[in-house]
Amino acid sequence: MIDNSINELKQVGTARAAKLNKLNIHTIRDLIEHFPRDYRDRSQIYKIGDLTPGAVNTVRAVITTSAQAVFSGSRSVVRLRIQDDSGVLFIVWFNQPYMTHVFKNRDEYIFTGTVKEIKTNSEKITLEMQAPEYEKWNEGETLSGGRIVPIYPTTSKLGQKTLRTLIHSALQMAEDIEEFLPENIQENYNLCSKGHAVRSIHFPESEEDFFEARRRLVFNELLCSQLAMFQVKGKIKKIKGKAIDQPVDSFIESLPFSLTLSQKKSLDDVLEDMKNTYVMNRLIQGDVGSGKTAVAMAAAFAAISSGHQAAIMAPTEVLAQQHFKSFSTAFESFSIPTALLTGNLKRSEKNQAYKGINSGDTKMIIGTHALIQEKLDFYNLGLVITDEQHRFGVNQRFLLSQKGNAPHILVMTATPIPRTLALILYGDLDISVIDELPPGRQPIDTYYVNSGYRARIHSFIKKQLEMGRQAYIVCPMIDEAEEKTLRAVNEYAEEIAEALPGIKTACLHGKMKPNEKYNVLDAFSKNVIRVLISTTVIEVGINVPNATVMLIENAERFGLAALHQLRGRVGRGLHKSYCILISDTRSKTAITKLKAMVQTSDGFALSDIDLKLRGAGDFFGVRQHGLPDFKIANLYKDITILKDAQEAAKELCGKEPPELLNEIGRFFKFNPKESPPVL
Ligand code: ADP
Ligand code: MG
Repeated sequence: MIDNSINELKQVGTARAAKLNKLNIHTIRDLIEHFPRDYRDRSQIYKIGDLTPGAVNTVRAVITTSAQAVFSGSRSVVRLRIQDDSGVLFIVWFNQPYMTHVFKNRDEYIFTGTVKEIKTNSEKITLEMQAPEYEKWNEGETLSGGRIVPIYPTTSKLGQKTLRTLIHSALQMAEDIEEFLPENIQENYNLCSKGHAVRSIHFPESEEDFFEARRRLVFNELLCSQLAMFQVKGKIKKIKGKAIDQPVDSFIESLPFSLTLSQKKSLDDVLEDMKNTYVMNRLIQGDVGSGKTAVAMAAAFAAISSGHQAAIMAPTEVLAQQHFKSFSTAFESFSIPTALLTGNLKRSEKNQAYKGINSGDTKMIIGTHALIQEKLDFYNLGLVITDEQHRFGVNQRFLLSQKGNAPHILVMTATPIPRTLALILYGDLDISVIDELPPGRQPIDTYYVNSGYRARIHSFIKKQLEMGRQAYIVCPMIDEAEEKTLRAVNEYAEEIAEALPGIKTACLHGKMKPNEKYNVLDAFSKNVIRVLISTTVIEVGINVPNATVMLIENAERFGLAALHQLRGRVGRGLHKSYCILISDTRSKTAITKLKAMVQTSDGFALSDIDLKLRGAGDFFGVRQHGLPDFKIANLYKDITILKDAQEAAKELCGKEPPELLNEIGRFFKFNPKESPPVL
């Protein structure tokens, strides 16, 4: 029943069905799971005599005249007189002459709208309500008033009234809203039944009723996503992998530094996982500059020493090139053949790379998504590392691990995520955290100023350049023509040329060819280019330890995560570094965000603040983590429910009743279309 098509509702014809489909509503279930985005408390119905002018009120009254239209030229006014035992009210519609046909004298209606006091010609004051929402009164069944009224997300083509009516009928039809939680869980976590929750989320009888309903539905979503994660993790755990057990001491000793304790700890986790006959699925979370690359290299070294190939996949061409440089340098003395594979290689270069990878001559492969998007045959791939990878969903990780010859998987991210969230986002991965920076780093001084300070900041940059250092300047736009009020890379470069005569500067942005980008970055890393004026393409991973100033224009335009990443481009060497945020914003949220940047450089603290400011929906692009969309749960607001759901998930894991398994399946669909090609 509940999974039948919406066409079975008598109010739904072809046209309406099409509109509903646009909202992704196809079945009765979809309809009743189209939850309100907001509510209006119209439980109070007023007498006409008690109406407050200027406020939105609901009245219930009898129609005492038939509606009259008065025309003047092409314009018209329809007036309707209604009455209860406390007074008279006029309802008015402009330019909607058909309203004369809607009402019948003596019928009882409710109207919701703003009431105005109007002076008539005879100086009398009358009450008027303009173009209100109306509905025929039907004791207990009236949907637009006399109750808390739901407001739905909709397109302009499908009105609130229609949706309300449709959902109401759907709820009446759907007698079989199945319960999928065992009774003891419902009891222990104090949850109402699913049927009650679904009905009350649409038409709550009280505020309390609403909160109870919402809590149950949020619990459902969080429980299901957590259990799905556990299932994926269980499946991955059972995949046989290659046991890799090789010492990495000689490699560690060859590094120009000794590893921090956290780096060692994370590396131990990784090596321990790879020794296992099951496939590794590990996430290394470490703030910008914490030295994740060294851990990745050591892991790759172990895989290669045991006779396998290792691959690292970076999200951008620029980052892939940089990794290529670091890996080839580090592996040179061990004579490990290394290759770069990106989408922009020439055909002949690509073929050459393919050959080495296919024959097994190449041991270390560095690339972009080209690594998985093209039909590439590895000889013997033992380890895949994905760097700064926010775009890899759990589905893809799962499928990836199932394909090819089951390589170990190491995911590295610089996006700090509060612990509770990490469990939902990365519940299928084991997590290691690098929570210290290499020694000798000085804290980065961060300043937040308005554009009046720009000249002073330019002369500050000049001083740093005279000391031999380098600077980044980040603008939100490439060309001024895109949006006049924002600073743009190209125009800024001209301005800087005047402010800093004789200094070699260069632009960097996403519209440049990969080669141009590479040349600019290469020259910057050699201190030939002294100031880099850039868009956020430098946000991920660029490593130039001699750069000490990060100047961000229109800083209000960037999210906290991006700002934190950008700041992480400086302070990577031994020199004192500075991050300057320029903004003239008046937005309170933006100001709070920029002040937070000044107050802390702790990525975890910033991620908490970000979560608070933005809510989890936008949180670091939660959707990009490959999570199913939550219809109702808000990962920030619902952290207490999340904890309950996680606890319940642990109790239920492996013992899920069939109804619950169904629910998980419905909620969390693996989409084979999203799977990457075979590794
Ligand atoms: P991220 O975690 O942001 O990817 P990187 O791996 O790029 O950081 O490392 C940042 C910088 O710190 C690099 O220049 C790297 O050589 C250096 N580094 C990494 N580990 C250490 C360490 N233990 N001691 C000193 N410097 C280190
Ligand atoms: Mg990195």
